[in-house]
Amino acid sequence: MTFYDELSRHKWDKEQESIFAKTASDVERALAKERCNLEDFKAFISPAAEPYLRQMAQKAERLTLQRYGRTIQMYVPLYVSNYCTNSCVYCGFSCQNQIHRVKLDVDAVLKEIEVLKKWGFRHLLLVSGEAPKLSNASYYEELINAVRPHFAQISLEVQPLKTDEYERMVKAGVSYVCVYQETYNEKTYPEFHPKGDKSDFRYRLETPDRCGEAGIQKIGIGALLGLQDWRTDSFFTALHLNYLERTHWKTKYSISLPRLRPHVGGFEPIDPINDREMAQLICAYRLFDPEVDISLSTRESAAFRDMAMHIGATTMSAASSTEPGGYVEPHKELEQFEISDARSVDEMAAAIRANGYEPVWKDWDIWL
Ligand code: SF4
Repeated sequence: MTFYDELSRHKWDKEQESIFAKTASDVERALAKERCNLEDFKAFISPAAEPYLRQMAQKAERLTLQRYGRTIQMYVPLYVSNYCTNSCVYCGFSCQNQIHRVKLDVDAVLKEIEVLKKWGFRHLLLVSGEAPKLSNASYYEELINAVRPHFAQISLEVQPLKTDEYERMVKAGVSYVCVYQETYNEKTYPEFHPKGDKSDFRYRLETPDRCGEAGIQKIGIGALLGLQDWRTDSFFTALHLNYLERTHWKTKYSISLPRLRPHVGGFEPIDPINDREMAQLICAYRLFDPEVDISLSTRESAAFRDMAMHIGATTMSAASSTEPGGYVEPHKELEQFEISDARSVDEMAAAIRANGYEPVWKDWDIWL
């Protein structure tokens, strides 16, 4: 049994209908509860909850402070390759786009991390396009071995791997893996992922299960907001979280809320989510799950990220480059997408402090 079996029991249209049918009384009932369930989550993300945003935000802030204190965990992504054999219609790295392709070797990665270490980062997220012949488990092991002495936490955001490959990643020192389903709508998924390994909806969906079996300490999931009706995709993300927490209960979880950003190829969001709805969604996740880590990248604006610290966001990146080699030598044409919050690391740390929070660069040491 995997999450695919659980997902098969839910129909997209029926869940969507049920979200839009929630009423003000459903929202009030959910707000009064100490522990919320999936029906309460639907109420929080429904149009009926919009007038209750202030109350949701106050409760979300209280729950976040209880679990996390006044802290924001800091990380930095390091793009190691933009080769990709997939053709996701919303991504600048799609194999359909004529862009210059680069894969960093160990020496190039070591040069990049010199910059990141000087900036103060101790949590590194290695990111790669999906081209398994070029960037595979052995390549990631090589990179992890090289960067491990320099970082307290190493995470991966690369193609879905097999269970035994995740076990190798654990042994190498990876503690956190992010894999986003993009959309949980199995019917429309092929429209956005027409080619390559990523077109296998089920294999991608079952990746967090394989991570859990392999003993990855923390797993990040999420939907790409804007691809489909954001409310329904967010419900399925919450369903996935709920399943994983029951099934792989020793693992910690993180939710990311990437919104579509401009990129080479110019795909337009089908259901764009505005700032107010995005705030509603962050609050909804926090009220549904007080423990879950909520991560916001530099895709979001400075003003939005400053506000989000107060309603549930717990992890943020800063000064990110989305191009391989971009910290040493920036080339705008290699970017996966444009970032929105362009503050330097010092400016970001100062903004976090000005908001009454403390940036946390290092949570623990690798125990290998
Ligand atoms: S989203 Fe990932 S898999 Fe899809 S084209 Fe971009 S880099 Fe490749």
